[in-house]
Amino acid sequence: MSTEYDVLVVGAGIQGAGVAEALTAAGHRVAILEQESVAYGTSSRSSKLIHGGLRYLESGQFSLVYECLKERRWLLANKPDLVHMVPFLIPVYRHSRRPTWKVRLGLSIYALLAGLFSSQARFRSVSLQDYEALCGLNNDDLLAVYRYYDAQTDDAALTREVIQTAVRSGAELICPGSLVGAEVTDKFVRVDYFHKGQLNTLHCRALVNCTGPWVEETNSKCAPSAKLPPLELVAGTHIQVPLKLANKIFYVEAEDGRAVFVMPWQGETLVGTTERPYHGDPSEVTPTLEEKAYLLRTLKQYFPETRPLQLNELSDAFAGLRVLPHASSNPFSRSRETMICSDNDKHPRIVAVAGGKLTSYRATARSVVKKLRPMLAAEQDWTAAAPLHKSDTPVDAKERNL
Ligand SMILES: Cc1cc2nc3c(=O)[nH]c(=O)nc-3n(C[C@H](O)[C@H](O)[C@H](O)COP(=O)(O)OP(=O)(O)OC[C@H]3O[C@@H](n4cnc5c(N)ncnc54)[C@H](O)[C@@H]3O)c2cc1C
Repeated sequence: MSTEYDVLVVGAGIQGAGVAEALTAAGHRVAILEQESVAYGTSSRSSKLIHGGLRYLESGQFSLVYECLKERRWLLANKPDLVHMVPFLIPVYRHSRRPTWKVRLGLSIYALLAGLFSSQARFRSVSLQDYEALCGLNNDDLLAVYRYYDAQTDDAALTREVIQTAVRSGAELICPGSLVGAEVTDKFVRVDYFHKGQLNTLHCRALVNCTGPWVEETNSKCAPSAKLPPLELVAGTHIQVPLKLANKIFYVEAEDGRAVFVMPWQGETLVGTTERPYHGDPSEVTPTLEEKAYLLRTLKQYFPETRPLQLNELSDAFAGLRVLPHASSNPFSRSRETMICSDNDKHPRIVAVAGGKLTSYRATARSVVKKLRPMLAAEQDWTAAAPLHKSDTPVDAKERNL
């Protein structure tokens, strides 16, 4: 196994996978360092939607929604085994915070951004008399139900597939391998990492930190570090319940007005998500009892005829962490744009990727490649400057711990 690469990508979540795939496709020598397993972090704990994010229109994030809808179109066309369209139903009640006109307006803008005349953009109202179409939805004070389409995926499987594409194109996956420290010298970045209980060293021209909720911790191990803005972690929980409701996704309002999805998943139903600030170790985030009870209450409110479920009857519950810019506003309305920062604007050696969406991983990867391109192009023959350390313990063979 080599100890010299053009780029080391730290983290094998969807962002690291996308960046590694794009860099190998551009002909660069890439290694990916992952401390646990592919998709160990947020990339296996999301809502599993490939979507523009209708709710982001409320906070005016039009360019994000537009970009994500463009990516949705590409993923539907190019990864049909993993990404498929699903009907979404939005019920509007007398008590709903978002009135009928607002939902219609949101769906019209969403359709416009998706490409008005595309079949993926259409929405319509569902007849309230069509009980079968409503799948047991509470119809007390129900004013209207809108149906539109968005896409669903298996987030961990998508991440594994993107990593496999990168590995097939020549990237080396070091897994489990954990970053210990990275130091930028004149010509390269010297990286120390643990693999199989041993300290190893490699050299690269640039390091891309795609460690999601660990991004600040990883950045603090780099000298110099990337100039990240103040960030905050926000936990989001999903519960999986042993009920099969429908092959549709319901987009409902919880008691506090937040949007919650009720989705088909693995023959059962997934309900999520919540939002709470998180200050602990990212590896230890778990759903709280309050979050699970809140999601069960939401399910019962909208599907009153389902069998009452106790907390100990859940098939699964998991929590993931969003990386958001620090602000005093409600996490719900904060920017979901990807933040791409570096140690040096002109000649970046340490790049950090924070936040963003599963849906837009390719757009993020393109931005990272664009940021690194001038530096990678300028230094064609850099290896002469990188000393081969006799004391380095090379890791065995190309790891494929997928
Ligand atoms: C609750 C929730 C729901 C979401 N739903 C959606 C959705 O429906 N659609 C959508 O588009 N987006 C969604 N998102 C956003 C999306 O899931 C995330 O943006 C994305 O998964 C983040 O991927 P990542 O690669 O940045 O981080 P991660 O997936 O967390 O990957 C980081 C990786 O870095 C590794 N790592 C950390 N430190 C080190 C180290 N020192 N050395 C080596 N490796 C290290 C970790 O083990 C981990 O595997 C959701 C997010 C949350 C929290």
